[in-house]
Amino acid sequence: MPALATSFFTAEHEALRQTIRSFVERELAPHAEQWEADGNFPDWVFTRMGEAGLLGLSYPEEYGGSGGDYISTLVLKEEMARCGSGGVGMAIAVQTDMATPPIFKFGTEEQKQEYLVPAIKGTKIACLGITEPNAGSDVANIETTAVRDGADWIVNGRKIFIANGVRAHFCTLVARTDKPSGYHGFSLFIVPSDTPGWRVTRRLDKLGMHSSDTAEILMEDMRLPPDALLGEEGKGFYQIMWELQGERLVAAAGAVAGAQLLFERCLQYAKERHAFGQPIGKFQTMAHRLAEMATEIHAARELVYDAVWKFNKGDYPVKEISMCKLYTGVVVNRITNQAMQIFGGAAYLTDVPIQRAWRDSRLMRIGGGSDEVMREILSKMRGL
Ligand SMILES: Cc1cc2nc3c(=O)[nH]c(=O)nc-3n(C[C@H](O)[C@H](O)[C@H](O)COP(=O)(O)OP(=O)(O)OC[C@H]3O[C@@H](n4cnc5c(N)ncnc54)[C@H](O)[C@@H]3O)c2cc1C
Repeated sequence: MPALATSFFTAEHEALRQTIRSFVERELAPHAEQWEADGNFPDWVFTRMGEAGLLGLSYPEEYGGSGGDYISTLVLKEEMARCGSGGVGMAIAVQTDMATPPIFKFGTEEQKQEYLVPAIKGTKIACLGITEPNAGSDVANIETTAVRDGADWIVNGRKIFIANGVRAHFCTLVARTDKPSGYHGFSLFIVPSDTPGWRVTRRLDKLGMHSSDTAEILMEDMRLPPDALLGEEGKGFYQIMWELQGERLVAAAGAVAGAQLLFERCLQYAKERHAFGQPIGKFQTMAHRLAEMATEIHAARELVYDAVWKFNKGDYPVKEISMCKLYTGVVVNRITNQAMQIFGGAAYLTDVPIQRAWRDSRLMRIGGGSDEVMREILSKMRGL
């Protein structure tokens, strides 16, 4: 760990930050309100981001990536918070840091060419299918089955809450391949969404993250060829636990960056808004509230940077990432809740985006492993 965590950003990272910031402010932020109202953002966001080289920052150049380190990924997540729509940041994170890392790490060269390369270009949209109606926190309870039929696989089951699932071209799917084998009974597959038997049964209406689509998916007698298997048969549970580490870390990084932006708005508002003849920020209760918010954001950010630093140098810091996911979720929700109070009645209006941040942030304590699941992991690591 460097003496000062923030010193791990090199001049190249800062240049990348400026490039991403101007892209986000120019091409995404002006549309954020509309995309939220539409309940979706257009597919061209994927292709534009692909053309700008932003979907493969940490992937090798041979696959169309930039060959950067994991800190480049952190920079992207931080800057995506400026687009003003949590749903866009989440959908892009699904593409770059949830559905495609298992293909890069466990896939064959053919699978990388078929799925990873176009995902980095933004010409194929990816989703990740873990959660089911009866298996959320309890991933080992997955009921979707993939059964051999000659060399092929026949898949039956349902997935729910699948981000990007309505429009995805392919899904990185977890299925049960061997019922009696416990954690060894799962495998990953790559499923093109035009496979007969794959059906989006519902587009789910949500509390927040409105610009991101969320699907319920039914798979009925879906026949997959042998080369749809991703990585080793029977290793799917462990592979998806590995994937979840990166997912949790980018979620935490993006959430803290969003909280920082919200804090800056609160500070400005507290200086501008007057009550009883003075700026509301001059009331000690308000000033102290802001001081506490700044402290909590700083602590959360340092936790993220510590985990990113370790992840970047090749460690597998499950403890730090679990702490990050737990703490940033709690902090970010406290920040958005405080922001609602600071903005008063204005916060309650739908054309002021404070309530949107409040709604969006609630997902942080549920998705990708809830607070309780993080506490379970951290307790078990201590032999409890
Ligand atoms: C907007 C959105 C997008 C999502 N995107 C995706 C996606 O792209 N792909 C995907 O696969 N999934 C996705 N998810 C699913 C998400 O990861 C799950 O919702 C999450 O893992 C929780 O599972 P669950 O909803 O089934 O809750 P449950 O597992 O039913 O949990 C309900 C409650 O019980 C608690 N609980 C469960 N187990 C324990 C325990 N052992 N101890 C104490 N408390 C416990 C939980 O913490 C929670 O509070 C998404 C969800 C949402 C809402």
